[in-house]
Amino acid sequence: MIKVNNLSKEFHEQGTSNELLAVDHVDFTIQNGSFCALVGESGSGKSTLAQLMCGLLVPSSGEVLFEGKNISLCRGKQKQVLRSKIQLILQDGKGAMDPRFTVYQIIAEPIRNFRKLSKKEEEREINDLLTMMELPEEIKLRKAHELSGGQQKRVCIARALAAQPDVLIFDEAVSGLDVLVRKHILDLLKRLHQERKMTCFFITHDLDVALYLADRVMVMRCGKIIEDRTFHGSTDCFTHPYTKLLLHSIAPYLG
Ligand code: ADP
Repeated sequence: MIKVNNLSKEFHEQGTSNELLAVDHVDFTIQNGSFCALVGESGSGKSTLAQLMCGLLVPSSGEVLFEGKNISLCRGKQKQVLRSKIQLILQDGKGAMDPRFTVYQIIAEPIRNFRKLSKKEEEREINDLLTMMELPEEIKLRKAHELSGGQQKRVCIARALAAQPDVLIFDEAVSGLDVLVRKHILDLLKRLHQERKMTCFFITHDLDVALYLADRVMVMRCGKIIEDRTFHGSTDCFTHPYTKLLLHSIAPYLG
């Protein structure tokens, strides 16, 4: 379980003496095995929140508890273990992978860092992950920059899974992909969530993607969570005027 308590993050605005509250006193709890989506326009604080949730940023105030432990107070081995348990998958798949490494080496890295597998077990695990991500085995020897955008994204997910995480946080992870590739990856994530009972937190500026994927949708605006609803297929649950405006804008695309 992840518990976010009265969490804020302030940045110093470049070139001015102003402080900017990117995340503004946010509270929520994510239950194990749930699929939550966080929706908001660019600059609303989503990425900052994601980085706070996996310990990459230190809060200005408040706390993030993972299985009862304050993430920003973890040090040394405890911090490493925590990092492996909450994996962040970013939009820029290519940028997240070392261009000198082959796909095999990229996926093997978390296995070598966090798990003790024999060479044979490692190989089997990587083959299984490639199959799960619907990637051909021969891709193992290729470098990240030789792959398509969709393949890069799948390798990033395989790499995150190789660490055996409890939570996957996707930050605009399907943005920039063409619609068919995007749909394939979204379906893959749905399956992954159902089969592995993995906790997923999916950040997007597309409300239609959030509604397609998640059973809970949070809406963020100006650093605050302005709406947080369990979604059972009907959009009637959303009541905030801003969410209604978003819904209105995607109405032509909803079935
Ligand atoms: P989103 O992911 O919703 O697009 P971000 O979390 O990236 O939003 O940014 C929220 C706000 O915080 C923006 O105004 C952004 O410019 C600012 N911000 C983000 N990171 C930093 C930083 N490292 N230094 C200063 N301001 C930042």
